[in-house]
Amino acid sequence: MHVRTNDLVAVMAGNEAGKTGKIIKILPDAKRVILKGVNLVYKHTKPSQKNPQGGRIQKEASIAIANVLPVCQNKNCKKFERGVRVRKKVLENGDKIRACVYCSSEIMSAE
Ligand SMILES: [Zn+2]
Repeated sequence: MHVRTNDLVAVMAGNEAGKTGKIIKILPDAKRVILKGVNLVYKHTKPSQKNPQGGRIQKEASIAIANVLPVCQNKNCKKFERGVRVRKKVLENGDKIRACVYCSSEIMSAE
């Protein structure tokens, strides 16, 4: 898996291409992810205790994990704030990190 929960990712293909969002959930079996504020759909709900009115609520729908790439957040990178491919990098202390293929800086998860 090239992305993790809380990663900031860019959508590279599909209906939502060009948008960025934070991963709020990964669905590994379906190979899909849910991004905050991306691919919003209306869900029609019956009245319930939580939502006594029922009606339409807006909710994020999943998108294919293959269509997203982590965003490089290094200001000096030529791909700053755009989706980048990552490679594994092993630090001197043995830690493995994900690094941007363009600038080698670490790909950090959003808070
Ligand atoms: Zn970069």
